[in-house]
Amino acid sequence: MAKRPRPAAAPKPPAPAAPQRRTGLVTAGWLLLVLAALGGAWSLARRRTPPNLLLVTIDTLRADHVGCYGDRQAATPVLDALAARGTRFATAVAHVPLTTPSHASILTGLTPLRHGLRDNGGFALPAGLPTLATVMKDAGYRTAAFVSGFPLDRRFGLDRGFETYDDRLPYGDDPRRAAYVERRADATTDAALRWLEGLDPRDRRPWLAFVHYFDPHAPYDPPAEYRSRFAEHPYDGEIAFVDAQLGRLLRWLDGHGLTSRTVVLATSDHGESLGEHGEDTHGVFVYDSTLRVPWIMAGPGVPPGRVAQTVARGIDVTPTLLDLAGRTAPSSMEGRSLRAAPSQELADAPAYVESRFAFLQLGWAPLAGWRTARYKLIDAPRRELYALDADPRETANRIAAERETAARLQAALQAALALPTPDAARGADRETLERLRTLGYVGNGPAAAADAESAGRRDPKDAIALLRRVETGLAEARSDPERAIRELTAAIEEDPRMALAWRYRAIAEAERKDYAAAIADLRRLEADGRSSDDDLVLLAECLWRTGQAQEALPVLDRAAAVLPGSPEPLLGRARALRGLGRDADAAATYRQILDRVPEQPEALRGLADLALAQGDAAGAAALYERIRRADPADVGALVKLGVVAMRDGRVEQAIADFRQALALQPQHPEALLDLGGALARSGRPAEAVPYLERALQVGPRTPVALNSLGFARLESGDPRGALEALRASLALDPRQPQVASAAADLAAGRAPGGTHP
Ligand SMILES: [Zn+2]
Repeated sequence: MAKRPRPAAAPKPPAPAAPQRRTGLVTAGWLLLVLAALGGAWSLARRRTPPNLLLVTIDTLRADHVGCYGDRQAATPVLDALAARGTRFATAVAHVPLTTPSHASILTGLTPLRHGLRDNGGFALPAGLPTLATVMKDAGYRTAAFVSGFPLDRRFGLDRGFETYDDRLPYGDDPRRAAYVERRADATTDAALRWLEGLDPRDRRPWLAFVHYFDPHAPYDPPAEYRSRFAEHPYDGEIAFVDAQLGRLLRWLDGHGLTSRTVVLATSDHGESLGEHGEDTHGVFVYDSTLRVPWIMAGPGVPPGRVAQTVARGIDVTPTLLDLAGRTAPSSMEGRSLRAAPSQELADAPAYVESRFAFLQLGWAPLAGWRTARYKLIDAPRRELYALDADPRETANRIAAERETAARLQAALQAALALPTPDAARGADRETLERLRTLGYVGNGPAAAADAESAGRRDPKDAIALLRRVETGLAEARSDPERAIRELTAAIEEDPRMALAWRYRAIAEAERKDYAAAIADLRRLEADGRSSDDDLVLLAECLWRTGQAQEALPVLDRAAAVLPGSPEPLLGRARALRGLGRDADAAATYRQILDRVPEQPEALRGLADLALAQGDAAGAAALYERIRRADPADVGALVKLGVVAMRDGRVEQAIADFRQALALQPQHPEALLDLGGALARSGRPAEAVPYLERALQVGPRTPVALNSLGFARLESGDPRGALEALRASLALDPRQPQVASAAADLAAGRAPGGTHP
């Protein structure tokens, strides 16, 4: 249980003026006047010192799963205490249930219509838009961000204005998910605290820190302690864990006397549907189950113990923080300051809401809506209107019953849609934009296009059951590719327009090394103009893995044009160049990535692998060590450090490295195989056997692995088991004369003459 933060300390009164020796009435009087003036100016300056700003977003946090929002089962004492010493908004809404676009709204004060980020991936914030960070940096603040999920990677452009943008995510150990997707709240809190600890105390400038936690995002997998406490509700376990980590941050502020000088604002980018409206997670619909979020703020300028009734919107976060810091929001921002809302209810300001996820990823109709304090209109092929006071769960469609209200909201929505939206691609030139348009990425046209977009498309509410099927495929594309391919194939047969299904079927096909099938699916997406940058990177990988490295290069150029800030096309290029034997060019490409993204782990790994292949063990070890320093749980780097140690003859060090790798990931096939091999070489064959057996259970059955097991069994006095393994090896590859002769000796009951090949 996190400790309840102590109440804010009152600011210290100015120190009394030092007593002055009387040197004469006139002088003394003059001195007193000067001192009084100085003291007054000093205390004024002190009062005017702008506060620090701490913006916390807890990804995927439904408001009604927080204690102070009425959830009695919630374990959120830190958020509850923050609300008690500050103000919470009873109703706060996001504009879009997608991480990158919603964070863009929070940080720019603009709806997706104006900042142009309409989906996760494929879009980057247009250059030149002011953000919370750019404004505060210009105002002389020190600025830093610590993010925890891939959707906030710097490639999407939300890093602008942050002097420190820590988006280093660990490789991860969840076989269901891609690498580098999430950092847990404890690690992110550590990073933020390291930055705070490292601030120069002589530097009196205030700071802006943005801390993003990703834990409540699916899959729900809280740390062990919370997993058992919240066995039935792992989503709430993730929330409780984040709450405790936020407690560490706030206690640090308290311990350093900063509580009274820091505005803290905690909110979320969207909620989680948890089965409502047939949706399990978030992204498709614009109902309140995924748009209502908490908004809690406290600190200087925020009255304590209030619950504000004004509806707060994502676009209001930045103007409010700027106002609390004594700044005026740039007039281009659409949001407004809610600083006064705790004391007096403000006039209702409606929220534009949208999701284009179903349109862009599934080929269904896009959704847009207009939400006032009392009503929400959703523009879909079959339009919806909800009276939110009476029907907060949005179950009774009143579109036919309240025609006038519907028409009024529809007109407001049309007016918002009528303005053109910017092309969201960082630094994209005309040619790049043209390419992007052909890929279906930009050209978010005015309203007329929205109707055209909807024409003949499925209404997401009619098709949501189909998404469940796709989601099974998505969840298992990496861990159970056969099952994923079955599910996705069935889904594609039902609706071939779902780019997401094609994309994940290709991932599953590549996972089971059926590169030809993956290439066919990815080419189909490209022919339809629906390729993402990631699709093109995967296509290139499949090409070079099937000996078509030369063909991969132009594909990677197209991927780079989609999202110029992404390192993945360059990583793919380096791998393709290696496939072509152009190692020096590959190394240069890896260095180019490191110039752009310092310590980018896959670039370091690529350079290290190159060094190892060229026999530069020391150079390779130094590079693997850099990966491990940034992420001590990077098992791949640990295993490679063990391999380097083996090559150097430091067998005990190698064994220690492999054991450490297995402590982190007990089923890592390479670590099992390498540890077995190292133990066998150091005269401990009996100890080696169980590791080698496990390596063969969880990893590929290769002749090398089977031979290692065969000879380890032989040396530990199990000739029958040895023969079995060697025969299995020969069945895979009969052209192994040494193995064949050892097997023949064993079959004849002789001690084999040969040694371990
Ligand atoms: Zn999110």
